[in-house]
Amino acid sequence: MNPSVIEVEAVVKAYPRHRALNGVSFTVPAGVCMALLGHNGAGKTTLMKLLLGLTRSTAGRIQVLGEDPARADLDFRRQIGFLPENVIFHDELTGEETLRHYARLKGEDPRRRGVLLERVGLADAAGRRVKGYSKGMRQRLGLAQALLGRPKLLMLDEPTTGLDPMLRQEFYRVIQELRAEGVTILLSSHVLTELEARTDLAMILEHGRISAFGTLEELRREAALPAVFRIRTRDPEGVIRSIGGEAEARRVGDAEVELTTPVEEKMVWLRRLMEAGMGVEDVEIQLPTLDHVYAHFGSDRRDNPEKKESP
Ligand code: ATP
Repeated sequence: MNPSVIEVEAVVKAYPRHRALNGVSFTVPAGVCMALLGHNGAGKTTLMKLLLGLTRSTAGRIQVLGEDPARADLDFRRQIGFLPENVIFHDELTGEETLRHYARLKGEDPRRRGVLLERVGLADAAGRRVKGYSKGMRQRLGLAQALLGRPKLLMLDEPTTGLDPMLRQEFYRVIQELRAEGVTILLSSHVLTELEARTDLAMILEHGRISAFGTLEELRREAALPAVFRIRTRDPEGVIRSIGGEAEARRVGDAEVELTTPVEEKMVWLRRLMEAGMGVEDVEIQLPTLDHVYAHFGSDRRDNPEKKESP
């Protein structure tokens, strides 16, 4: 097992009238890509701020790269790259000047900026002012900024929000390369489906508590959501009778039956339907998607009207 890059134990972050995190414990091994998911106000940004040492926990223990981030120094910060949710750049600077500026702030060698701009696909726009950049270009510049100094841990707060599907793919391509290089990546998102096959671990936060943590396969298994058969048939009542109360079946319209079964029994039921005949014309099997899994673990996705900016 890889050593842990992040260790969080019983962490609470309380504001005067609200607990943003309420007893959160987890560890993240080195070199994995972990998705942090949850509805608006679930506590994702608060958790990232605690891991970055930008705010202090009310209770509990946090270790990032073996240190308490709230007490860590510049050397610690240089090992971490961060892309905030709403990245704001100086509009009059070019992409290249922006990176030089951040390299100075971080105490890093500004000569790598060309390589980084190339890596995120901004080499051609390096000399253009940021005010002419699209949302996707700004996000990519944000990623280049986060990569200054070859961080061991990369934290990306909703990095793909507002990006079109092509740019998202491109973004994840760079993330995959970094993961292959051994960088540990923590990224927050509202969208579980786009993370499929791209993350090793997922954590779902709900009202400041962990409602699920594990690989996507483990989450699927734990949710134990059913498979749904849509059966087109000339004899819906006959099909329902042949199912005989052993599984949940209901008539949908004149010529369709919906059958709900455990995923692992789907082949058994498919065979039974084929054998039963009953004028079955077509069978469509819907397996639970990651959206269903997400909805299962984080049922409340309402906007939280109490959300405030940090003081
Ligand atoms: P989003 O997806 O909308 O970015 P999030 O999961 O990142 O949401 P957080 O920003 O971590 O959520 O907020 C968690 C909770 O803590 C929210 O209820 C929010 O209102 C509250 N909160 C965050 N910062 C403060 C603050 N400085 N003072 C008081 N409450 C705060």
